Amino acid sequence: MTAINLLDLDLEEMAAFCAGLGEKRYRAVQVYRWLHQKGQADFAQMSDLAKSLRDKLAGAAEVRTLALLSEHRSADGTVKWLFDVGSGNAIETVFIPDDERGTLCVSSQAGCAVGCRFCSTGHQGFSRNLTTGEIVYQLWFAEHRLRKTLNLAAGERAVDNVVMMGMGEPLQNYAALVPALRTMLDDHGYGLSRRRVTVSTSGVVPMIDRLRLDCPVALAVSLHAPDDRLRDDLVPLNRKYPIAELLAACGRYLDAAPRDFITFEYCMLDGVNDSPAHARALASLVRHRVPCKFNLIPFNPFPQSGLVRSPRERVLAFAKVLQDAGIVTTIRKTRGDDIDAACGQLAGEVQDRTNARERLLARRDGPSRVIPLQVQA
Ligand code: SAH
Ligand code: SF4
Repeated sequence: MTAINLLDLDLEEMAAFCAGLGEKRYRAVQVYRWLHQKGQADFAQMSDLAKSLRDKLAGAAEVRTLALLSEHRSADGTVKWLFDVGSGNAIETVFIPDDERGTLCVSSQAGCAVGCRFCSTGHQGFSRNLTTGEIVYQLWFAEHRLRKTLNLAAGERAVDNVVMMGMGEPLQNYAALVPALRTMLDDHGYGLSRRRVTVSTSGVVPMIDRLRLDCPVALAVSLHAPDDRLRDDLVPLNRKYPIAELLAACGRYLDAAPRDFITFEYCMLDGVNDSPAHARALASLVRHRVPCKFNLIPFNPFPQSGLVRSPRERVLAFAKVLQDAGIVTTIRKTRGDDIDAACGQLAGEVQDRTNARERLLARRDGPSRVIPLQVQA
């Protein structure tokens, strides 16, 4: 019998699992709290559990970890981890502290099938979905490691904001995503507020509707273009779910959402989608239709894309058009300049299948590369 990975289970599933072992619900709560709140993966150390339960857990369950390939720390406090998920694939998780909060950027897939033109993860293609346990492990690892390395006082937590903006399209891994979100939100798990857990999507319309019903957390939608012609080209999923359908789903989502706006992400690509005319078209597209904020992301270049980052003045002018139309607009600022990049770049390099395993191992102690990291302002 293969052991159950306890990180795969939300609290209800943990209760069902414990019931199968002949244990009451409060025992499941205890195990869940040991695991997520205290970061204890060793059943023998779960001191207030009966020895008989600890023995049963040891026989039937495990806490499955991911091998850490590298850790990069920036002078500004940003930390990036690269984990091995097997078959030469790696995923990345990034911690971004600021004065008010600690944000963790979490991956949902190894690679991505959507294939956006400006995204290095998309250029890799799709390898596989992460399991619930692999999604939760990123938070489990980051939270408990940071509590130690940052010397936090008892009860203080390191991560109070999670964004599903690492590698992959979370809404194309829906079955694994939802239990992971539940553990992030559960008071016996990480106790994060719904407003502080954000799912970012390129626009999987039916799954936006399901998320609204199953687990309405904050929603960010990667828009990148004001019309279908351009968006078809940049985000191929648009051919399946065009802008009008996407905006309608955003409107429906707001009925249940923990915030009263949708965040639209817009990657600024030189000469492609960044003119004042694009900004005006965007403003008239969303105004009176979806209460929203815009987050403009300076493009993070990579060689195969053939695309270039918009100059700063163009980004500012674009933001001004939106702001003058009454839309709150922020520009994502660059953090972690002295460590490896977000947006799939490092893992993208690792994922190349030729001798990937050897290079993964070689990198374990290798030096940091320097690529700027984009994070929310
Ligand atoms: N698949 C989801 C979430 C992961 S991508 C989505 O597309 O929303 C997270 C964000 O990073 C998205 O807004 C995406 O557009 C942006 N992004 C991807 N590649 C980028 C790049 N090279 N430069 C800047 N932003 C990028
Ligand atoms: Fe996938 Fe998001 Fe990258 Fe598009 S931007 S390829 S949806 S990870």
